[in-house]
Amino acid sequence: MRGQEQDVLRETRQERFTELEIDLLIANVAADASPICAPWGNVVVSRSGAKGYPSLQEAEGAGVTTHNNCRSGFSAYSGDKTAQTTPKYPAKKPSSQYQNTQIQRGNERQIRK
Ligand SMILES: [Zn+2]
Repeated sequence: MRGQEQDVLRETRQERFTELEIDLLIANVAADASPICAPWGNVVVSRSGAKGYPSLQEAEGAGVTTHNNCRSGFSAYSGDKTAQTTPKYPAKKPSSQYQNTQIQRGNERQIRK
């Protein structure tokens, strides 16, 4: 699909969501989707920017449904149990928040006689 047709289709769909007063959308991303869209598979986004969800703007800004030759799209979210609320970007570096610092202290008393 060419960029311009893609834009028109996307805008038409968004207008329809507005008519239906649908705020939450879920990303339909094919298993062989581009690396741009892949992390967003089954991610629920909010058109209004509702709390707890990435916004549609954020997803589109990341290139989801907007990059060239994209075959991904958004459809109305209907409570799908496989839905995610954060894109699954592959880890690029070890997380600094990795918490494995639980130190068990030995409080054994050494009794000397
Ligand atoms: Zn795509």
